[in-house]
Amino acid sequence: MKPAPFNYHRVHTPDQAVTLLAELGDDAKLIAGGQSLVAMMNFRLARPAQLIDIGEVAELRYVHRGNDGLRIGALTTHHAIESEYRGTMANGFEVIVDAMQWIGHLPIRTRGTIGGSIAHADATAEWCLLAVLLDAEIVVLSVRGRRSIPAGEFFYGFYSTALEPDEMIVEIHFPATARHAAMAEYAQRHGDFAVVAAAVNLQIEDGSIQGGRVVLGGVGPLPVIADSAGAALSSGQPLSSTSAAECASETANSLDLDDTVPGGAVYTRGLVRHLVTRALCKAAQLEESVR
Ligand SMILES: Cc1cc2nc3c(=O)[nH]c(=O)nc-3n(C[C@H](O)[C@H](O)[C@H](O)COP(=O)(O)OP(=O)(O)OC[C@H]3O[C@@H](n4cnc5c(N)ncnc54)[C@H](O)[C@@H]3O)c2cc1C
Repeated sequence: MKPAPFNYHRVHTPDQAVTLLAELGDDAKLIAGGQSLVAMMNFRLARPAQLIDIGEVAELRYVHRGNDGLRIGALTTHHAIESEYRGTMANGFEVIVDAMQWIGHLPIRTRGTIGGSIAHADATAEWCLLAVLLDAEIVVLSVRGRRSIPAGEFFYGFYSTALEPDEMIVEIHFPATARHAAMAEYAQRHGDFAVVAAAVNLQIEDGSIQGGRVVLGGVGPLPVIADSAGAALSSGQPLSSTSAAECASETANSLDLDDTVPGGAVYTRGLVRHLVTRALCKAAQLEESVR
């Protein structure tokens, strides 16, 4: 399949990109790695008349680690994170490197970008889950200036975000390390988007759980923070594989699911139970008890 005709523009700086976005209006779309947009265009799910290629905007390919956390340029690829920047992620951001293995196959990871993934806003995309899990800030630019959007307010629903048509994501900022975080997911085939994904971030002090967050993908139109798990993870007690499984059951049972989720509600609840247990055990470095 071939896309509908379009005009192609190549830019080399973020300012050039947002100036063109402002000039060309609603007919224009950015293209980064093209790993989601080209498929959408081929299937006529997207028909931009003007395509602005930001793939050569080299200044947005970076990872900076400092006192204020981790800053990743929007054009950094998934593969650069798992290879070139693996060392930068040590001591606190390993969960991000670990998550890259789940994104498609190597050719997709060498072209696909963090900015493209967050802008595309698939509810099971690893970057979207990580952004919500780790309270990331999405930094965006337009001719009107720069603004920062908390990840918790960025995702609106299926492929829908707080991004205005003339805005471009330039950076994702992860403000704090996550030393006890992990992700687990289930996909039908290796490289497919997850059917269900679970990401957890625990606060552990002197071996006791002082709080935590569980974020789920595949249970609704956007990444969902499981509130019931947050309460269960404030016990002040050490986490055991039994309490992890109990927390996972409570999380699964508390979800408001209908049969429109792929596989149906019963199947999805079962996956949530299993994957939350696995992610909690991994984050707390516990043996998962087989149930
Ligand atoms: C077979 C296959 C399997 C895949 N499996 C997974 C998976 O398991 N998990 C996963 O997370 N992803 C998966 N993907 C998607 C992949 O991760 C893409 O790289 C990603 O979703 C989009 O990144 P991109 O740079 O290719 O964006 P593009 O395809 O270029 O763009 C996607 C959208 O984002 C917009 N956009 C791009 N960059 C910016 C920016 N900086 N600012 C504002 N808007 C922007 C575009 O206008 C477009 O609307 C898969 C893709 C394929 C083809």
